Amino acid sequence: QAKLQEGTNYFIFDWELREKLEQKTMIAKYLHSALEREEFVLYYQPQINAVTGEMIGMEALIRWNHPEKGLIGPGTFITAVEEAGLMIQLTDWVLREVCRQLCEWRSLGMPLLRTSINISNSWFYNRNLIENLFAVLEEYGLDTDVLEFEITESTALLEEHYPLLQQMRDHGIIVSIDDFGTKYSSLNYLKHFPVNKIKIDRTFITGIGVSSIDETIIKSIVFVASQLGYDLIAEGVETQEQLAFLLQHNCPHIQGFLFYPPLPADEIRKLAS
Ligand code: C2E
Ligand code: MG
Ligand code: MG
Ligand code: MG
Repeated sequence: QAKLQEGTNYFIFDWELREKLEQKTMIAKYLHSALEREEFVLYYQPQINAVTGEMIGMEALIRWNHPEKGLIGPGTFITAVEEAGLMIQLTDWVLREVCRQLCEWRSLGMPLLRTSINISNSWFYNRNLIENLFAVLEEYGLDTDVLEFEITESTALLEEHYPLLQQMRDHGIIVSIDDFGTKYSSLNYLKHFPVNKIKIDRTFITGIGVSSIDETIIKSIVFVASQLGYDLIAEGVETQEQLAFLLQHNCPHIQGFLFYPPLPADEIRKLAS
C-alpha cells in the first residue's frame, strides 16, 4: 500500500514537473521568437528635478507588445526571460534600442538626456561586455555619460562584479542601486559598492505620512547618501504629500506617477520639444 502511495506520489510529482518543464520550454520558445520578431518595446519614464522642474533623465522600461494580448508588463515575463537563459540577449537588445532611440531623438534636435537601463545579474557574465558596450556606443556616436546602469543590491553585493562596475564608472557611466533598502539594507555595504547613485524604493515612499519608520529610513538614506557623496532619486512618488516630504528632506530628484508614468518614445519627444 505504502508502495502504491509512494508510486502515486512520485507519479504525480513527475507529471507536474514535466508539465512545468514543457511550459518553460514553450515560454522559452515564445520569448525567443518575440526577440526575433522585435515584439519588445521600451517605454521611458522621466526623472524630474522637482525644485527646478527640469527633466534630468529617464528610465527605460521594457514591455512586450504581444500580437494578440497587447502590451504586457515586465513583471509577468522578466523571470521567464531569466529562466529561459535569454536575459543577456534581452539586455543587449535593450542597450542597443536605447542607443538607437537616443540617436533618433538627437537627430530630431532633442537634447540628449541620460537614460538608465535595468541590468540583471546574469548580464555581467556576458563575455566581452565592455567591448560590446563601447562598440554599440560608438556605432551610434554616443558618449558613455548618456547611460546609467541600474543594478540591484544583490548584484552590487557580488564582489566578482566590482572590476567591471569600476571600469564602467571610470568610463563615465553612472551605476545606480535600484530598489535601495529592500534587500540588504545594511548601510555598511555602501562603503564597498562601486556605484554613484541610489534609488530609494517605492515601498518607503508609500510610507510617507503613514509610517514614521519609513520616514526615518528615508531621512537616514538621504543623510548617508549626502555624507558618502552618492546621488539620490526617489522612485514611485505619487502624491503631493510625498513630494513635499522629499523636498523638505533634501531629495529633489523624483521619478513617479505624480510627474509622469512610463511613456512611449514619441510622447517623450513631444515633452522635450
Ligand atoms: P524598477 O526598475 O524598480 O522600475 C520601476 C517600476 O515602478 C516600473 O514598473 C514603473 O512603471 C513603476 N513606477 C514608476 N513610478 C511609479 C509610481 O509612481 N507608482 C507606482 N505604483 N509604480 C511606479 P514596470 O515598468 O512594471 O517595471 C517593473 C520592473 O521590471 C522594474 O522595476 C525592473 O526591475 C524590471 N524591468 C523593467 N524593464 C526592464 C529591463 O529592460 N530589463 C530588466 N532586466 N528588468 C526590467
Ligand atoms: Mg529600475
Ligand atoms: Mg526600482
Ligand atoms: Mg521597484
